[in-house]
Amino acid sequence: MERCPLPRAWTLECPVLAEELPSAEQQPDLPSESVKPDCTLLLQGLRSACLEDEVECPDFFDELCSRLAAKTGQADFTTQGANGQDSQQPEQVAASARLKPSKAARLQADRLLGLRAVRDSNVLGVDWSSLDSLQALAEPASHRPADTQTAAGANTSLVPLPASIQANREPYAQGDWRQEPYAPRPYKRLRAYEVNEEKELLQWKLTTQKQHACSGLHCVDPSHLGSYSIEAEKFMTECGCLARNMECGDGCGCAASGCCNRAVSRRQALLLGTDVQEINAWGIDCYTRRNIVDAALESQAFGLYKAPDYSRLLQLPLRAAATLQQGETVKHSSRGSVDAQQAADAWVDQQLIPAINQQGDTGWDIANGLQHVQRQAEATGDECSAKAAAAVMKRFQKVGSNYFRVHPKGTGIVCAREAGLRPLSFVEEYLGEVHSPWRWFEIQDATKKQSGEELPDFYNIVLERPRDDPTGYDVLFVDAASKGAFASRMSHSCNPNCQAVVMSCGGRLTIAVYTLRSVAQGEELTFDYASVTENEREFRAATCLCSTRACRGSFLYFSGSRAFMQVMTAQHTFLHRTALLLRAGTGPLNEEEHSRLERFGLRDSALGRPHQRLPAWLIKWAALVLGFVEHEMQLLPAQLVALQLRAPYNPLTAAAEAKGVCENRLQNVVITLDKVRLCLQRPGQPQSPPLRLLTDAQAAEHVWTGDRSVGRRLVRCVAQALAGPSVERALAHALTAGEAVKALPGGGQGLPPQVARLVAMAFHPATDFQDGRRQLLAVVQELRQLDLAVKGGFTALADIALLHACTNHWFLAEREYKGFTSLPVQLNMEDLKLDRMNRDTSAHAATSQAGSNHHSASNTAFERLTGGDHASESSGSWKEDSQQENGGMRQGGQGRQSVSPDVEDGSGALAGAGQAASGKKYGMQYVWGQLTLWHKQTVYDPTASLSADRRGTITLPDLDSCCAGAKTRYSARDREAMLEHLEKRPEASWKGNGTMWGFRNEARVYGSPMFDAVWRQVCHQPDPLASLQDTLAQLRAAPVPWQ
Ligand SMILES: [Zn+2]
Ligand SMILES: [Zn+2]
Ligand SMILES: [Zn+2]
Ligand SMILES: [Zn+2]
Repeated sequence: MERCPLPRAWTLECPVLAEELPSAEQQPDLPSESVKPDCTLLLQGLRSACLEDEVECPDFFDELCSRLAAKTGQADFTTQGANGQDSQQPEQVAASARLKPSKAARLQADRLLGLRAVRDSNVLGVDWSSLDSLQALAEPASHRPADTQTAAGANTSLVPLPASIQANREPYAQGDWRQEPYAPRPYKRLRAYEVNEEKELLQWKLTTQKQHACSGLHCVDPSHLGSYSIEAEKFMTECGCLARNMECGDGCGCAASGCCNRAVSRRQALLLGTDVQEINAWGIDCYTRRNIVDAALESQAFGLYKAPDYSRLLQLPLRAAATLQQGETVKHSSRGSVDAQQAADAWVDQQLIPAINQQGDTGWDIANGLQHVQRQAEATGDECSAKAAAAVMKRFQKVGSNYFRVHPKGTGIVCAREAGLRPLSFVEEYLGEVHSPWRWFEIQDATKKQSGEELPDFYNIVLERPRDDPTGYDVLFVDAASKGAFASRMSHSCNPNCQAVVMSCGGRLTIAVYTLRSVAQGEELTFDYASVTENEREFRAATCLCSTRACRGSFLYFSGSRAFMQVMTAQHTFLHRTALLLRAGTGPLNEEEHSRLERFGLRDSALGRPHQRLPAWLIKWAALVLGFVEHEMQLLPAQLVALQLRAPYNPLTAAAEAKGVCENRLQNVVITLDKVRLCLQRPGQPQSPPLRLLTDAQAAEHVWTGDRSVGRRLVRCVAQALAGPSVERALAHALTAGEAVKALPGGGQGLPPQVARLVAMAFHPATDFQDGRRQLLAVVQELRQLDLAVKGGFTALADIALLHACTNHWFLAEREYKGFTSLPVQLNMEDLKLDRMNRDTSAHAATSQAGSNHHSASNTAFERLTGGDHASESSGSWKEDSQQENGGMRQGGQGRQSVSPDVEDGSGALAGAGQAASGKKYGMQYVWGQLTLWHKQTVYDPTASLSADRRGTITLPDLDSCCAGAKTRYSARDREAMLEHLEKRPEASWKGNGTMWGFRNEARVYGSPMFDAVWRQVCHQPDPLASLQDTLAQLRAAPVPWQ
């Protein structure tokens, strides 16, 4: 969690922060009277929202603080900052004074204040109701409603906004307003899935052995088929085949010619150009939708409508205002209003949006759509519609186009059939290039690298193999960006009229799109992308333009929210994940684990067919992690219900949410298995588990008998401190206690007597590991006596040595894994540029040849790879600390990775050409890193955080770091802080910088009393915490020279 840039006292009332921070009693400096309560509350809310999402946004808060400071007087901020509670405050204020309101900061403020408010209000117990006042501060003057609008079509000089717009928390999607349609991304039409890498394997994964035969009684009449339920995620049908997501086949009771459940097998997709059409689709955000509906309702076009008392509503105290629902400004009380509301919604869905979608390039101007509706209404004599359109037009002319922004959505598909489509019509298969998870995430990484972290466009979908398939669950990725079918061009909607379903059709698996209900001519065909992102930036940038009343605001779901992470954060820490990984290598799969894998549908597809089975330890790892997932699914619902949210969970919604989390976890387990499979399949790669316990002899050597053992290093530290480096070196060469004591100056004469005793003790042989530990403990006692005698200097050493001595389980990491560079990803840079929010993008640069060039380029690369040449194998060494600096890897292979040409100059000759990004680099610790970070997939290098995560959790501080200069550096306070940390957050890594501790871990042997506790828990041993508590008690009771 990042430090909070706000004055600390401000955050005390924040519900999210309440647990994180000391209570008010412990915080003497409460907000002074001079702090404006409005801003305080508001910033608390914003801050807590950011905490919730684990967002780092110091720039944003700097910006706000500087503006607030300018508005309310510097004193409020400087006094808060100078209270000494948070030493970072004065710096913060100084930095913010220098800060110029950049465009980026403004956009960030816009987004944070605006869109996210509505989006997050469902999951956060945050009060957003006084956003307007802060928004006014955060907005540049030209964006303020009261000021003259300069945007195109605006005509608002100093006209006060209608109350309904003022009450609309976010009057329109902030930021730039793009009015040009996106250039359609050309794609090659496919008739079947295309597989480029691992052909045999992926083709096999696209087949199914699912078998069923229905009676044939319920699939011969389309009206008997039933429906698809989004909530239940299945067909509600009496046809036994369709109920299992299968099309009928030879064994069914229905005649092939008369069965309505064989459309995919018969290839009866809708025809582009006849049944459906590709258009430049347009959409409005949920705020603009409110402006439209309010204007229509207030005109009484749809019957009696009494606008709520907005002015009273805006003055309501915060608590009361907080009961408002998402996307709504008021509750409509009278019955008449509810009917009118429904009629207005239907008018927007069925008349206005289809009309806007007929405007081609000029759809951005809502006037065109409104005029179209008016003409239509006059032709059909629909007075309500005409009146509504006129009212919206009038308001639009009054307040300006900014409040009625229509945004381009890219290509969309509309129904062109005059008769429309009936429910459960087969639309088309979602075809594309199929990738294994490892490859898909390499492509994602390369795309993000090349496009500067822009949100990738969404021409892709996950194909989840059904759990009830005999070869089981698995995950494949379908990319339709350059090759696919029109189904991939369908827009997202939060209230869709279609659904994509994985179907088994004649022995093959496919993603088929069906209509959910009747679709009228002119209506856009949509489905719910149901895409989850763990990236908060992506989530926030994904403004939804589905234009429906049910719009969630973002077309993505956010899986990184702390609400979903509660159980994981507490019970699946780095220590737990490490312990499970270590445990995976200790024995075969037991009966319970086997049946757990069965329950989750993990069989040959995810675990490998017999001839390419994953190693047993990896399968056991999956079973162990799924054990946690099951455990989490039991605990999460109750925890969600207990959350103090504005829109609280009930047992049903919480259970559904937990199920979603569980499915997301399963997906992540399977993706991780695939990524690790890639590494283990490399030629010459060891198949052993990444972590393994030391044998008793090895552990004894590590702690006691080895010449670099903890015991020997301890006495050498002491000798160096009291007698100098030459003595230390002499000790290093000593073989026996006698030799060692002789190495001391004058045989120990002139040194405190404890030194010679210590040295003699350290060279005493041990019978086994436990004996070594006991002797080390005795050495620690002796060291404390010495410390008391010479007054300080060795307490840190003794304390840390005690932690070493109290550690029961030591393990090490596999050192033979080799790093490698994967095959380059071919990216079409023109394609990438095409859909970015950049007006400078020249649409003509993309040509219809992009697809085919892409095709040939990537084939060449794959052929080169499959030639078996591994030119980029790394020969780096396992160096704990240098790992990150040199990435553990070198980019090898001359001429294999073409450097991508400068994108800006890439037009002309390079237009449409596939550009090679460099291949993804996998470090030697990748297997360990990815298995530890299994719940995240978008981290480019999962090993990057390993060394930080290990610090103080499984890597104890080096003895050398405890001694050098420790006399002045380790105080009673330091020890107290360490004890408190070990007691309260044993799983949290230690700070490295700015502390005396070093974590070089030369031996690269891992273990700690904290890890022991978790290990016992993971191995279901009784009283797992006892020994850690005993260690802490020993530490606490140990005599110190400063008392
Ligand atoms: Zn049937
Ligand atoms: Zn059937
Ligand atoms: Zn049938
Ligand atoms: Zn939406």
